[in-house]
Amino acid sequence: SEAGGEKDLVIIGGGVAGYVAAIKAGQEGFKVACIEKRGSLGGTCLNVGCIPSKSLLNNSHLYHQILHDSKGRGIEVGDVKLNLSQLMKAKEQSVTGLTKGIEFLFKKNGVEYVKGTGSFVDEHTVKVDLNDGGETTLKGKNIIIATGSEATPFPGLEIDEKRVVTSTGALSLEKVPESLVVIGGGIIGLEMASVWSRLGAKVTVVEFLGQIGGPGMDSEISKTAQKILKKQGIDFKLNTKVVSGDTSGDKIKLEVDAAKGGKPETLEGEVVLVAIGRRPYTEGLGLENIGLDVDDRGRVVIDSEYRTKHPHIRCVGDVTFGPMLAHKAEDEGLAVVEYLKKGYGHVNYGCIPAVMYTHPEVAWVGQTEQDLKAQNVAYKVGTFPFSANSRAKTNADADGIVKVIADAETDRLLGVHIVGPGAGEMIAEGTLALEYGASSEDIARTTHAHPTLSEALKEAAMATYNRAIHF
Ligand code: FAD
Ligand code: NAD
Repeated sequence: SEAGGEKDLVIIGGGVAGYVAAIKAGQEGFKVACIEKRGSLGGTCLNVGCIPSKSLLNNSHLYHQILHDSKGRGIEVGDVKLNLSQLMKAKEQSVTGLTKGIEFLFKKNGVEYVKGTGSFVDEHTVKVDLNDGGETTLKGKNIIIATGSEATPFPGLEIDEKRVVTSTGALSLEKVPESLVVIGGGIIGLEMASVWSRLGAKVTVVEFLGQIGGPGMDSEISKTAQKILKKQGIDFKLNTKVVSGDTSGDKIKLEVDAAKGGKPETLEGEVVLVAIGRRPYTEGLGLENIGLDVDDRGRVVIDSEYRTKHPHIRCVGDVTFGPMLAHKAEDEGLAVVEYLKKGYGHVNYGCIPAVMYTHPEVAWVGQTEQDLKAQNVAYKVGTFPFSANSRAKTNADADGIVKVIADAETDRLLGVHIVGPGAGEMIAEGTLALEYGASSEDIARTTHAHPTLSEALKEAAMATYNRAIHF
């Protein structure tokens, strides 16, 4: 279709939320355009998030395992060397392959891809400053805002993406730093800490709260994960706040304050990663031209059908409410187009899995013990250690536990929390069970193949009524 002109749907942002909505809209027969300024589709997730981080995590894990965990398995290797530029090349190839794949899917589904920066002129008009120069104007009967998020800066520490980095710089360091200090022990902090620690950096994670993993991780799981990561050589400073930074010297100096009892101290790092969260991104979008407000955390305000106060302008993904996760953004992208097409759509916000791709992985869905305590819900817990799971033991990869939480009275599943090998894949079973309102007994009575890691979930479900077999 020709550039510019009148569309059924104009989408601003070609990240996971925007591109999925665009493909779905194409499938449903909408005349749809998707505006993306980055020069490639897939947003944060594909370009500088989920995908490149998983490439580095996977390959750094292989490297580390070959170095430290092969001899006992009967595999003797010669000189093991790190080729960092090849590691980065492999990462770039995985990114390019996937982002090009979306371009292909756009063509296949008749989505017009407009390369440039979109901003509202009025409630139905979006002006695009084209990446190649010049501008065009799109008119949309409906418009979706899907402009995503950006790293929250740390006041007083200027990001140069070389020495003081966000995740974006941390995904592309040119050499392995001798030392890395990570500000923020959330998921980004811990995934990047794992990568660089495995490749040889001395890594210290400074976390303001008393537990790692960011908001939403079950405290018992968080403690278990921290112990395992510590064993791998990552240092943690919890209940510790970074107060200020000084980049003038050879090394970056951070002044930290221990919240509970400890003394102020100075930490030094060759590289510092700022990973204190992400914030909605609406810069240059021209929201002021259509009278749209954001809330105190910068989020575009919407109702339960993703409508802003202009009902034909909807908003999904990281730029609005809810967890900043790719699969949440994707499902909102689908749901918003269903609203447009059929008048109804659905995302179950009580049932969105989260995965931290360290080794072992941490994954969870539903409520944590601390959530349930706060709500005064009577619950029971079943836990099962991977050290009692035959497959994990056989693989000599048996750190971690599965924890199943069920309603004390009805046995309805309330949450599944896993730290262990393959947790990210295993959580799909817990998610499906939760979505379908299963009881822990339903999981326990479902036949699980032997020998598999997922038997640990079955046994944890049995443990909610004290009937685990192997522990
Ligand atoms: P984004 O992906 O941020 O996409 C928004 C797009 O809009 C961007 O490409 C931007 O260039 C474009 N844009 C913005 N303004 C304009 C404008 N005015 N005109 C045109 N285009 C514009 N989530 C997971 O679920 N799993 C993971 O493993 C995971 N790993 C991550 C690792 C890292 C290092 C980071 C930073 C994030 C990770 N996330 C992960 C989070 C995930 O990336 C986000 O939740 C997801 O990308 C949100 O999608 P989105 O479409 O809402 O926004
Ligand atoms: P986060 O909110 O998960 O964690 C930030 C951490 O920094 C928190 O634990 C917070 O207490 C701490 N912190 C804040 N200020 C601090 C200070 N001054 N000193 C010390 N600690 C401080 O954010 P993130 O890890 O930056 O990730 C951003 C978003 O990206 C999250 O929503 C996350 O879910 C998403 N993400 C997801 C994945 C995944 O799904 N695997 C991977 C990466 C990122």
